[in-house]
Amino acid sequence: MIGTGTRAYFDRETETAAADMLAALRLRKLRAGLVLLLQRNPFYGARLRAAGLRDARDVGSLDDLARLPFTTKSEFAADQEAAPPFGTNLTYPPSEYRRVLRTSGTTGRPLFWLETEESLRTNAREWASGLVAQGIGPGDRIFFAFSFGPFMAFWGAWEGARLVGALTISGGSQQSLDRLRLLAQCGATVLASTPTYALRLAEVAAENGIDLRALGVRATVHGGEPGASIPATKRRIEDLWGARCFDTCGLTEGGHLGFECLEAPGDVHLHEDDYVVEVIDPTTGRAARPGERGELVVTNLERWGMPALRYRTRDLVEIVDQPCDCGRTFRRLRGGIIGRADDMITVRGVNVFPSAIEAIVRRHPAIAEFVIDVHRRREMRELELRIEPVPALDAGAVTELARQLEQDVHTDLGLRATVTAVAPGALPRFELKARRLVVHD
Ligand SMILES: [Zn+2]
Repeated sequence: MIGTGTRAYFDRETETAAADMLAALRLRKLRAGLVLLLQRNPFYGARLRAAGLRDARDVGSLDDLARLPFTTKSEFAADQEAAPPFGTNLTYPPSEYRRVLRTSGTTGRPLFWLETEESLRTNAREWASGLVAQGIGPGDRIFFAFSFGPFMAFWGAWEGARLVGALTISGGSQQSLDRLRLLAQCGATVLASTPTYALRLAEVAAENGIDLRALGVRATVHGGEPGASIPATKRRIEDLWGARCFDTCGLTEGGHLGFECLEAPGDVHLHEDDYVVEVIDPTTGRAARPGERGELVVTNLERWGMPALRYRTRDLVEIVDQPCDCGRTFRRLRGGIIGRADDMITVRGVNVFPSAIEAIVRRHPAIAEFVIDVHRRREMRELELRIEPVPALDAGAVTELARQLEQDVHTDLGLRATVTAVAPGALPRFELKARRLVVHD
């Protein structure tokens, strides 16, 4: 690590390199990887040859990547089903792999993903550079409030924390209250969790008379859901914990894509030394215009043992190509991951993402949890929000809260939503990826 304060870098030379230097680096990595895939990877070797690529030297620029096909999750799933358990997207013999990961299976069959020593090192380095950009390093004590299942982010964050010289504290396999106690006992300065779970821990703290703001946690680091980049959610986490809240983005199949820095709250820098990132129209597949919202497509250039080339993430993003005060030249995702393409709700001709609704709901601290119900009635879609008020609220205040939320949704989104209050504790709580959208067709 070099430097101090907001101008600290894990790898200054790379993180502040000019765009053309980064592009040249990506092209070198891409070509070296394609050589490997053509020679050794059954899944991609066949696909690349079918697309007319015989020799990696035919890829003269990063633009040539667009001649290669996209890969979808269902294609990986079909391959793993046909050749269980790990499929044919393997570049090396089995003895070269060091870790089995698995996706959560929130959309479809869970996928296995195998990491090599090399790809694990990259993943830890990527996490480390993000933590340094968030001012986290030696002397910090990072509490990991999750179960350490087979998802990539758990392990990358853990190893990245060690790499920056922080103390790591595992909060696996415990109830929320026990986690809070352990966090307090160990004097944690950083919390790593999903944004939803940071809010859940705050709720448990309030129920048990624990003053979160007095615990000394000065930063929270999140992933797994869009929440930490939704302004109202971010503010709420920061208020409850008395800490700076940071987002990160990544996915098990794609890798650890990026991190929020100290200087651009709400945006996520992409690791542009390690990934080719494209944005496309999710319906037609054509490239989005600069700054246009579209589906994130990633090619991880540091994970050739089990690669994903032009992988369609179904996540919607907008890229910001402007200098950042932190000095990094890596472009940013404005507002992190905006939502899942599959989660877009169309109600009476208005398109809306659950994250846009969350952005409104979280402005109301008296709402502890919520669910978005979409009903189809007589071919019209209707939106209902079930909200769970905090226990202290009386009936009159609950009615007023529901009315206010209906009005906010109408003002901000142009949508009429019916808001119904349910009893405290009635809605599900989440430790990992929250699922708050329920479509009743
Ligand atoms: Zn920055």
